[in-house]
Amino acid sequence: MPVQFWRKPSRRMLAIGAAVTAVAALAGGGVAYAATQQPAIKTSTPRSANQVTNLDVLRQQIRNYYGDPLGTGMASGDSNYAKEVRSVEASGQRWLASAHHSRGTKAIVLDVDDTALLNWNYEVFSNWAYNPTTNATFVNNQQFPAVFGMVDLVRAAQREGYAIFYLTGRPADQEAATLGNLTSDGIGVDAGYPGPTVLRDGEDGLFTKPAAANYPGYLKAACTDDPNGACTTVHYKSATRAHLESLGYDLVANFGDQDSDLAGGHADRTFKLPNPNYYLP
Ligand SMILES: [Mg+2]
Repeated sequence: MPVQFWRKPSRRMLAIGAAVTAVAALAGGGVAYAATQQPAIKTSTPRSANQVTNLDVLRQQIRNYYGDPLGTGMASGDSNYAKEVRSVEASGQRWLASAHHSRGTKAIVLDVDDTALLNWNYEVFSNWAYNPTTNATFVNNQQFPAVFGMVDLVRAAQREGYAIFYLTGRPADQEAATLGNLTSDGIGVDAGYPGPTVLRDGEDGLFTKPAAANYPGYLKAACTDDPNGACTTVHYKSATRAHLESLGYDLVANFGDQDSDLAGGHADRTFKLPNPNYYLP
């Protein structure tokens, strides 16, 4: 089975790029297994090359969208990306300011990459080809600026009494660097986010993805049927949100740039930030 590296650490924990279906054929008393490999991304098949955008042209369109036509790695606050982000944030802020909460302590949950921290510099650096080693260098050196306007949204939520939780597929060994990049530790970029809220049971409110051997009970239970017992992104994130709810938090809003950040319920409302750079099932 070919090994592919997916875009984010959470992806490396998937049964990589393939679902294998074993079919038992019992004729003659023997058992045969037919393995069907399927791509992790299910989409259509173009009939013609004219139905897809040329990849080099597409990269340029994305550079233009981020307000970085020359590919310097610096996105612009005047870009169409920034405008689209601000529009999502505006509806998020209206929702947080107006939502009626009665089911516990109100809280928000945010994904990290391309929701709280902008990965644009890494897309340009890597030419959209994720590599876990070079990505880890960016992460560990805390090189990601905040997504435009997102710090203001989170700070406003905190002033309004929301607990603040971060939920990322980054592996547990990147937790300290992630916290430092999000907040202010004097290393690399300090994006200026409020620190994560400490949970009632004493856990810290920044959730990185543990190795499967170290799963807490709620992840073990949710992911027993996943490949090798390793949680898919949707199972990891939705089970963690369910865990937060079980501790008495009402997740009023869940912010993410991937559908897999938002699927699986356990939030009153979801807010999808734009990201044309990669797709995480
Ligand atoms: Mg993300």
